[in-house]
Amino acid sequence: LHICAAYDDAAGLAALADRCTVISTEFENVPADSLRVLARRCRVSPSGDAVAVAQDRIAEKQFIAAQGIAVAPYVAVHGADDLRCAGEHLFPGILKAARLGYDGKGQARVSNREDALAAFEAFGGVPCVLEALLPLDYEISVIIARGFDGANVVFPIARNVHHDGILAVSTVGEEGSLALQEQARQAAQAIAQGLDYHGVLCVEFFVLRNGALVVNEMAPRPHNSGHYTLDACVTSQFEQQARVMAGLPLGSTRLLAPAVMLNLLGDSWFDGETPREPDWAGALAVDCAKLHLYGKEEARRGRKMGHLTVVGHPLAKVQADAASVAQVLGLPAPDVRHG
Ligand code: ATP
Ligand code: MG
Repeated sequence: LHICAAYDDAAGLAALADRCTVISTEFENVPADSLRVLARRCRVSPSGDAVAVAQDRIAEKQFIAAQGIAVAPYVAVHGADDLRCAGEHLFPGILKAARLGYDGKGQARVSNREDALAAFEAFGGVPCVLEALLPLDYEISVIIARGFDGANVVFPIARNVHHDGILAVSTVGEEGSLALQEQARQAAQAIAQGLDYHGVLCVEFFVLRNGALVVNEMAPRPHNSGHYTLDACVTSQFEQQARVMAGLPLGSTRLLAPAVMLNLLGDSWFDGETPREPDWAGALAVDCAKLHLYGKEEARRGRKMGHLTVVGHPLAKVQADAASVAQVLGLPAPDVRHG
């Protein structure tokens, strides 16, 4: 059933509540107050309060820092004066609109104060954060599912590579530093507990060249970097969300085999000007490659159309197979991390 109404339409919300026992949202830009209204009548996951924090970079950074967890050095920008007074240590930096950004949209890399002022004006003067551009070694994400009883499970950590601000590759099952992984898991658990979060939550981290772990941001939902769980874990991130909503026990997050997930952007549909279907037969001829298409009708450059996951043993073979898939589909070659 499709109820078509504005997010804050009282009659639309009432119609939804009439028909549902439990309500979720697939993205974080639903007005938090609408979720709070629904919560008077239904179980809602994630809650309006949690979404209110996750949908606003200023509130999000304040909240995470208040948990004693490191975030990138930043300043909240409500007006041009905040940029005029911003510390020199924030340059070069990234100006990010506080709300409604995704896939690197609503962001500008700024090398100095003048650039930042120009970017702020180009964004229409909306509230922003200016954060320092950090020397990243690599990026990871932790997906956690937390039930209404407070029980939680954490998925294996994914290492993520972005191209042009968009997730391109997630790799799971690398050896990596156990101490760092434990630190990331604990930070995600502290954030979920601090928010009294119910549902699936993703926390994205930077690992800096000096080994420090910094939270980038969180997403109050199943996340692109957790799509590998569909094919490589006992329970997927989507099933966990359904289990939380139904009050069922959380499932095992055990990794069945190492995995590499490749995002499919609309770019793969373009060789010249006219879109054409990518070579699925060629990609699926690769051992243990699994294709997921989202059913979007129009392919556009930069638009997420689907993903492919390669699963198997050992990781080195999975990485070689993922590289073959990438070559067939004209995707950037997934990097392999050594050491
Ligand atoms: P998404 O919706 O894909 O998560 P987003 O639009 O919310 O993206 P961010 O996660 O803030 O954007 O940034 C996208 C990417 O840009 C990061 O994953 C990272 O590669 C890079 N990036 C963001 N902030 C910084 C920073 N302070 N220092 C260095 N790199 C950064
Ligand atoms: Mg991000």
